[in-house]
Amino acid sequence: MPKIKQLSAHEAQKIAAGQVIERPANAIKELVENSLDAGASRITIYVEDGGKQLLRVVDNGCGMDKEDATRCLQKHATSKIESVDQLSTIRSYGFRGEALASISAVSTVTISTKEIGKSEGIQVVAQEGTVTTQPTACPEGTDITATNLFYNMPARAKFLKKRETETRHIIQMVQAISVAYPTHHIQLFVDNTLSINCPPQDNVVNRCAQLWGRQTGKQMIALEPQTERGVSISGAISNHNWLRYDRRTIFFLVNNRWVTNPGLGRALLKGYNNVLPQGRYPTACVAIEIDPAEIDINTHPKKEEIVFAHPRIVEQLIYKSIRMALQKDVSRQIKRDVSFAQSEQTYSAQPPFQINPFATIPHQAAPAASNIAAPPSEQAHIKFDDLTQSSQNNTPAQSNSSIALKETEPYTLIGQFHKTYLLIEQEGGLYLIDQHAAHERILYELFASRFQEIPTIKLLFPQLIACNAEDIATIEPHLNIFQDHGIIIEPFGKDQLIVQSTPVHLKNSSFNDLIAQVIGWIREYSQIDQEQFIKTMHDKLRAQMACKAAVKAGDTLTDSQMKELLEDLYTCPNRFSCPHGRPTGWLFSLHEIEKRFRRK
Ligand code: ADP
Ligand code: MG
Repeated sequence: MPKIKQLSAHEAQKIAAGQVIERPANAIKELVENSLDAGASRITIYVEDGGKQLLRVVDNGCGMDKEDATRCLQKHATSKIESVDQLSTIRSYGFRGEALASISAVSTVTISTKEIGKSEGIQVVAQEGTVTTQPTACPEGTDITATNLFYNMPARAKFLKKRETETRHIIQMVQAISVAYPTHHIQLFVDNTLSINCPPQDNVVNRCAQLWGRQTGKQMIALEPQTERGVSISGAISNHNWLRYDRRTIFFLVNNRWVTNPGLGRALLKGYNNVLPQGRYPTACVAIEIDPAEIDINTHPKKEEIVFAHPRIVEQLIYKSIRMALQKDVSRQIKRDVSFAQSEQTYSAQPPFQINPFATIPHQAAPAASNIAAPPSEQAHIKFDDLTQSSQNNTPAQSNSSIALKETEPYTLIGQFHKTYLLIEQEGGLYLIDQHAAHERILYELFASRFQEIPTIKLLFPQLIACNAEDIATIEPHLNIFQDHGIIIEPFGKDQLIVQSTPVHLKNSSFNDLIAQVIGWIREYSQIDQEQFIKTMHDKLRAQMACKAAVKAGDTLTDSQMKELLEDLYTCPNRFSCPHGRPTGWLFSLHEIEKRFRRK
């Protein structure tokens, strides 16, 4: 007895449908994409019960004639390609002729459609394999309703999540479409309530405000469009002050289609360069335009995952654009905070709290950074003249300005408050700088950019760290991570590690907890891919070293120590927050202070 049977065409179509439309949000996406392909400028979406009961998309696109309105439900019915060869160059959304066939295989579909300029439209109802048509009076465009999704696939229906979850996926899908098409009018009704209303906008920043509120809108900065090696980037991202606990407002669009790709997300966060604390995310809509031959979007039936032929080019460009936009935004903030009569150009290299307008002075030209004694607490060392002298080309925004810092200081150091904050008076107001956060950032950047040059010292009395055998087995293969940062650690017998050398900054630090932490990180992160693991470990180790070596809250600082700290801070990248994301300083503007005293 042969065991193999041919599935009926209808059964096969149901199975295929399950792949294309895993959940209601995918069906919405297919329907909206058809509307976009049809040239619609206004698209209204209705969902009920998370899309399980009802999905409806109404558009003002080109509409269909009688023949197309029935034909469009057939498998492989498409007006968009004629041969598979065209797949690599296609720019429209549809091209498989699968969506409507799939949706109608697992739901009841009603289409009302009328071509532009025609007096009469057509209504097509497809239910359980039978199709009926009749003339109808309807507006120009197309109105497609699908009810009872997966009614005939109970196993599949069971996989659908509860109403709220499916609704959330739909909302995110509609948000993605809305940011991709700011000039379109897009509306979403959830259970008869208007949930998203996006009338046409001329830019994506305004679109973000429509979707996520005016507060978010205010924090968004437009990316300056960039093109490099055939790849173009544009869009908008939130500034460094804005963060969220999830990635749900990060959207990547490739040729205007919402896609996922882990490399793009990494490039984006890298652009924020440790300004955002661990586990916090920006709001971002990044649009990438690229030759369709350079991407493969067909690897997945839902066309959401994308593979780039040359991912590095795209990732580099994203990283650069984000960095540039944030840098510019900081300059803009300075301008807003302290209205200095200076040129745009000078601002672009300056910190948010502008202490000294000569922030562009090369690091090595600073007055050898140094007449500063070790701070009172023995473990803290802000002295790193050796470094500043040997450094070349490592500080950002260098210029050949030779103006001596001391002669032109436009700020007054008032002193230290609560042995924790530096108080600075400057034209624009009163600055409070957190000495620990600021010093942490300075050291972090130093460890990050110049770790090969950091002078190390061999400890006269090497530190012995008690460990168990399991810890040693965990850390031993990764001791080079420490070595890369000038910390030489070796196993010593069965249950000890020995610290032989350390960077000068850490010479008086105890390594017990640092090593315990690193062992914990290795266990936590060793699952991720190697490159990412190494990067994560380096970042974390640097942040921890910076924290250990930095002056603490409660350390008394001398005037010259404070000045050195400030000088180093404003030549330091990412100076507006510490590596853990806390702000390094705040400005209280004169205006604000005067208002509080009711002088204004
Ligand atoms: P594809 O989009 O891959 O061509 P679909 O099954 O999604 O396949 O759609 C089949 C065809 O139906 C499309 O090629 C198009 O000609 C027509 N169509 C679908 N939706 C619309 C719409 N909203 N307006 C006009 N034509 C449509
Ligand atoms: Mg389609």
